[in-house]
Amino acid sequence: LIRLRGRLARSQNAVGKSLLGLLGGGDLDDESWEEVEDTLVLADLGTASTAAVVARLREEMASRSVRTTDAARAVLRDVLIEALRPELDRSIRALPHPDHPAILLVVGVNGTGKTTTTGKLARVLVADGRRVLLGAADTFRAAAADQLQTWGERVGADTIRGKESADPAAVAFDAVTAGIERGVDAVLIDTAGRLHTKTGLMDELGKVKRVVEKKAAVDEVLLVLDATVGQNGLMQARVFAEVVDISGVVLTKLDGTAKGGIVFQVQHELGVPVKLVGLGEGADDLAPFEPGAFVDALLG
Ligand code: GDP
Repeated sequence: LIRLRGRLARSQNAVGKSLLGLLGGGDLDDESWEEVEDTLVLADLGTASTAAVVARLREEMASRSVRTTDAARAVLRDVLIEALRPELDRSIRALPHPDHPAILLVVGVNGTGKTTTTGKLARVLVADGRRVLLGAADTFRAAAADQLQTWGERVGADTIRGKESADPAAVAFDAVTAGIERGVDAVLIDTAGRLHTKTGLMDELGKVKRVVEKKAAVDEVLLVLDATVGQNGLMQARVFAEVVDISGVVLTKLDGTAKGGIVFQVQHELGVPVKLVGLGEGADDLAPFEPGAFVDALLG
């Protein structure tokens, strides 16, 4: 996994700069606080997490009687990190069990980067010495299974796939069965992300999970969200969270946005840890999400 810091700094620190400009002198009037709010909202933090961050900033700026840019930076850093819930466990649960592999489901709306993320994650696990099997349960998008298999060939993982428009749950079941028979360490299942109706999604994803669990417990359900779609991403997250128990979020395309504030919204509203971030289309463009490194990149 690559380091988060340095990869984000260039695009993201405009937000940090404007915040520091506003807070640096201390003693803000109401108008300046409004500007702080606007800056955070523009950075995709959304109204709820912006309100929470501003409230904490006001408290901390007052109690530490901030007068200098350095002091403001320290307050801002602490408050933003705290908003990202640094206490959450962000490790990926991919260790095998005595009698079956670790099972990871990758879910999300089509186009967010699900298949790419599954491939990148497989690469990380294989590089870590684990034997990985991929399950191409996104049978909705015609090219998805080919794309996943190509990733598998690149990183050294076999792919289990079904016939065209096969039942996703059947493919997922086959992948887990094969994973157990072959004694692999982890099975990564790429699922379909049709968000046409909530019940449709619920039926399909719910079924995948139920069927897989006939064979083995699911260790991770990773929700892939596209950081560039802002508020929409959070709506998607809410729907998925209602359908399956999400254990972690992967925020993709952070390289393609100067905002990234969606991370704060996800942490504030869902409480599910953002575990990984996607920083490009390449095999190595996946990084662990570290609140401290992320905030340092924001602050430049
Ligand atoms: P899926 O439909 O959710 O499986 O999405 P794909 O994995 O096919 O990805 C959709 C597009 O987003 C592809 O062109 C990917 O290369 C691209 N993509 C995925 N992750 C990232 C990322 O972190 N950064 C960038 N810039 N592009 C990404």
